Amino acid sequence: MGSMVDPFGRQIEYLRVSVTDRCDFRCTYCMAEDMTFLPKRDLLSLEELDRLCTAFVEKGVRKLRLTGGEPLVRKNVMHLIRGLGRHLETGALDELTLTTNGSQLARFADELADCGVRRINVSLDTLDPEKFRTITRWGNLAKVNAGLDAAQRAGLKIKINTVALKGFNEDEISDIMRWAHGRSMDLTLIETMPMGEIDADRTDQYLPLSLMRAQLERQFTLTDIPYKTGGPARYVDVAETGGRLGFITPMTHNFCESCNRVRLTCTGTLYMCLGQEDAADLRAPLRASEGDVLLDRAIDEAISRKPKGHDFIIDRRTSRPSVSRHMSVTGG
Ligand code: SAM
Ligand code: SF4
Repeated sequence: MGSMVDPFGRQIEYLRVSVTDRCDFRCTYCMAEDMTFLPKRDLLSLEELDRLCTAFVEKGVRKLRLTGGEPLVRKNVMHLIRGLGRHLETGALDELTLTTNGSQLARFADELADCGVRRINVSLDTLDPEKFRTITRWGNLAKVNAGLDAAQRAGLKIKINTVALKGFNEDEISDIMRWAHGRSMDLTLIETMPMGEIDADRTDQYLPLSLMRAQLERQFTLTDIPYKTGGPARYVDVAETGGRLGFITPMTHNFCESCNRVRLTCTGTLYMCLGQEDAADLRAPLRASEGDVLLDRAIDEAISRKPKGHDFIIDRRTSRPSVSRHMSVTGG
């Protein structure tokens, strides 16, 4: 097995793959209502995605997360997931997981567990069906709840991801936490990041988690713990619920110094940082030959350019997004 180390000495062991930029929801902080998606002809086939992921596993990636867009709306995605499951069996990979909006989970939960998936992240920003429809523009909360039930029945561990949104769910966060912990699910709160043009003003949505934490501390006893999942969240134990709460704070606390990941899009573009425009095309070297020599070289070259960190800014003077692509392209 190889290993990938970037110019700042960080070992790259985590690959996130956006298997599609399409989605059955249109969350208002993530997408514009009228989104233009990548042309289908530019997409990598599932076989090509497998080959790319496998090249990364051979170069030292230990954790693979499929995301999107909505990974479970990509046609035949289970074929890819089953194929990648072989790396768990050989021990080359520690974890194969996904981030999903939950809408298709009822259908796929058993099969995911059968492929070796043990934990998943499900994004959910409210427990109110009407508000859920508003934030996702047309999502059905009952379907997501059925998906959560199916996933727990299949034995999958679930972490709920909630984007903290000013004026939308800030009053609901403690209820969401009690609900998640009551069902033995971890909860992670995320700050909105300035990625891609959306229809709303991000300054109106942005809620610093430092404020949220202070608010929660009026009701709950939060104790910092060293728990890590390989991602950027910092965790606390919540005494009153007995559960774990994570904070992903790209805006108020920069976590780049421990970054161990890179991100691949469904067209084979590798982003070395979520918050920067620089990228490397891996589709051309992938398609140029059947062997992986060119691909390996392109990956090494890309890792040697991994930047130190992002420069996200959200304020009234900065109305443009920090990066022009949407989160659904690079995968959240
Ligand atoms: N569709 C799947 C889902 O919603 O879980 C996977 C892709 S989605 C882009 C991944 C995560 O990114 C979700 O938890 C979503 O809430 C989050 N997200 C999307 N746009 C964001 C933004 N601008 N800032 C912060 N988080 C964002
Ligand atoms: Fe779709 Fe996930 Fe973006 Fe919502 S956050 S629009 S579910 S990709």
